[in-house]
Amino acid sequence: MLSRRDLLAGMASAACPFALAPARAQAQPDVIIIGAGMAGLSAARALNERGAATLVLEARDRIGGRIWTSNQWAHVPVDLGASWIHGTDGNPLTHLADEAGIARKQTRWDPNPVFKPGGGRVVLDDAEKLARTLIEKARVRAEGRDDDISLSGAVEALPDWASLDENKRRLVRHIIHDNIELEYAAGWQDLSAWSFDDSDEYDGAEVVFPDGYGALPAHLAKGLSIQTGQVVVRIEKAGKGVRVTTGTGSAYQARHVLVTVPLGVLKAKRIEFSHPLSKDRTTAISALGMGLLNKCCLRFERMFWPETGDVFSYLGDRDGYWSQWLSLSRISGEPLLMGFNAGAAAREVEALDDAGTIAQAMAALKSIFGPAVPDPVAAQISRWGKDPFALGSYSFAAVGTGRETRHSFAGTDWNGRLVFAGEAVHADHPATVHGAYLSGHEAAEQIAG
Ligand SMILES: Cc1cc2nc3c(=O)[nH]c(=O)nc-3n(C[C@H](O)[C@H](O)[C@H](O)COP(=O)(O)OP(=O)(O)OC[C@H]3O[C@@H](n4cnc5c(N)ncnc54)[C@H](O)[C@@H]3O)c2cc1C
Repeated sequence: MLSRRDLLAGMASAACPFALAPARAQAQPDVIIIGAGMAGLSAARALNERGAATLVLEARDRIGGRIWTSNQWAHVPVDLGASWIHGTDGNPLTHLADEAGIARKQTRWDPNPVFKPGGGRVVLDDAEKLARTLIEKARVRAEGRDDDISLSGAVEALPDWASLDENKRRLVRHIIHDNIELEYAAGWQDLSAWSFDDSDEYDGAEVVFPDGYGALPAHLAKGLSIQTGQVVVRIEKAGKGVRVTTGTGSAYQARHVLVTVPLGVLKAKRIEFSHPLSKDRTTAISALGMGLLNKCCLRFERMFWPETGDVFSYLGDRDGYWSQWLSLSRISGEPLLMGFNAGAAAREVEALDDAGTIAQAMAALKSIFGPAVPDPVAAQISRWGKDPFALGSYSFAAVGTGRETRHSFAGTDWNGRLVFAGEAVHADHPATVHGAYLSGHEAAEQIAG
């Protein structure tokens, strides 16, 4: 039987289950959060606001995860992970950036000239409209099927595709590559025709952070208890809670563990779980795709590319290689060009060393702007697929997966002791910073009740 005192305490904890927690020693937090990316940090902040004591364990020697502002070049921050807030209207990141007073600048996507070898412009004619029509028809066809199919399979089965000549197909493929494969970090043969773009979007501008995206996680991290350099290798049930062990043998215990490591890390089974995860979750982890998008940032002594917009494309000898370029000169005030590769091209380029990567990038630029193009004075290159704490760039809807798959991935396991968050679990906004941020909040709500 409960005494009145117990009853009051129980009511307090029902309204705010961690109301009594701050009195407890920080040595045993209420919740251990694995990963100090946006999901982990937003969850920690939300839990702290509800009175829960949290400890964030982060494998790297920095926070931010796939937000990675490199400060290798003095006074010229370079984002080698996320760059944009995709759609500022109603986006929680807008509020967060305002709160932190972080400057943003809008990217100019128009014009986006497509260059061919020799520097001439590719005439797209009706190829953009054609690509849109083909994708729409492919989607309708695929939705009429009982089972999912790849985007490439769905498009290539259309009579309209069969009737195109080689040149038109190439232009359509380029548009699909620029707008879909680079966006979702995967080849169209791997993307689900049903669900490849089945996510919600915010309206408004696409903005970048001239001083680096890293300011956002740094703002979120203020006042949180975070230990970096802690590679979690095992999670096990312990009493009524959970124990977490790191590569150095340190062990931590808590009532709940929130796992926010990237999908790639879970797929590769880099963390051992003492008991099986739910079947739906295990299936979701193996079925969702982990995409690859890499950046190569080249620094020059002077600008040699057109100043009209921030982007240009390249349709070179190898379709889909070094096809998208972003000029950072207006944003950063420095002559910087960033080349992007996704999917198969990204995997191939990632296997090269720095010199090999720069040589390929420069071959593309010389092919467009001529042999007199100066060599870069420096370069920074991402290799997210080889990064042991990411093992890819972000998740995508592989054939046979969709919103439901992400719903099965999200949520709790082990009777609520184990919780999952991160961009890949967010059904509405996967593969984005805001999706990761929201998933952290949602996980905090699940834990705090
Ligand atoms: C090249 C690139 C460009 C992108 N561009 C954009 C963009 O412009 N806009 C956008 O909205 N999104 C973009 N994204 C996606 C966005 O960066 C991610 O969706 C988001 O940052 C993921 O946050 P997260 O918290 O889920 O994961 P993460 O940020 O990856 O955080 C997970 C953390 O877990 C840590 N970890 C991993 N293994 C362990 C372990 N064993 N023990 C302890 N810690 C571990 C990692 O080090 C990491 O810090 C981009 C991503 C990449 C790679």
